[in-house]
Amino acid sequence: MCKHIKNAQVSIRTACCHRWVDCVECHNEIADHPLLKTAELTLICKKCRKAFRKNLTDEIDESDEYCPHCDNHYVIPAVTEADVERKRAEKELEKRRAAFDIRYVKEEDLLFTEDMEDVTSRLG
Ligand SMILES: [Zn+2]
Ligand SMILES: [Zn+2]
Ligand SMILES: [Zn+2]
Repeated sequence: MCKHIKNAQVSIRTACCHRWVDCVECHNEIADHPLLKTAELTLICKKCRKAFRKNLTDEIDESDEYCPHCDNHYVIPAVTEADVERKRAEKELEKRRAAFDIRYVKEEDLLFTEDMEDVTSRLG
């Protein structure tokens, strides 16, 4: 599991050291050399676990964004650690806002910092 891209749909076989990686950063962490870039990529779909090739010099159309075996859409915006962190911060902010609104939470709820879900479900 790649810790840089949280929603990676494919693994890429590197041309330089024949490792399966989820992203360039994963490669750079384990390898002692820069990634060799190639026009032809060998990919493995994480959903159906089947390998397929992709030539970047070919003209790319929309169907190229899908796994040829299971139609898994793998060209998607990457979700990174920063995105996850931002979401967490947003949730935290939301929780604090709710805590300041006395119509929202009872006083005893303020003593425990719980997930918004818990608080809202208890309020019905
Ligand atoms: Zn390498
Ligand atoms: Zn990675
Ligand atoms: Zn697939």
